[in-house]
Amino acid sequence: METKNCPKCGRLFTYVKNSICPDCLKEEEETFQRVRAYLKEFPGQSISQVSEATGVPPRKISKYLRDGRLEVTDGLSGFLTCMNCGKPIHTGKFCRECSTKLSKGFQSVAANPKETEKNGPRMHHLKNKDKE
Ligand SMILES: [Zn+2]
Ligand SMILES: [Zn+2]
Repeated sequence: METKNCPKCGRLFTYVKNSICPDCLKEEEETFQRVRAYLKEFPGQSISQVSEATGVPPRKISKYLRDGRLEVTDGLSGFLTCMNCGKPIHTGKFCRECSTKLSKGFQSVAANPKETEKNGPRMHHLKNKDKE
């Protein structure tokens, strides 16, 4: 059996599969449940509001989201925003309107290569046209 020092509290513990000791793991779990319970009771909060109310750092709350333990649909607002217009979204990078708009825009640019040439001929990157 392997023993490790807990990176959180420094205590020696028997390493099984978790990288922190059982005590810290329990604490982590309680922290997570606190956030979860708070969101259940007060949906539609922003990360900073949740952080203030639960005492859990925003960094940790966003980690729960990235790890998929929490979802924005759990009642958290303002975490994911459209990279184009800043509107809150539940998934991906852009809101539905912008992704439609952007994919259309992208298509029209691709269909009119002269348009891009006109706007920035020096930025033209056809360097590897001899790649074949
Ligand atoms: Zn520990
Ligand atoms: Zn948008």
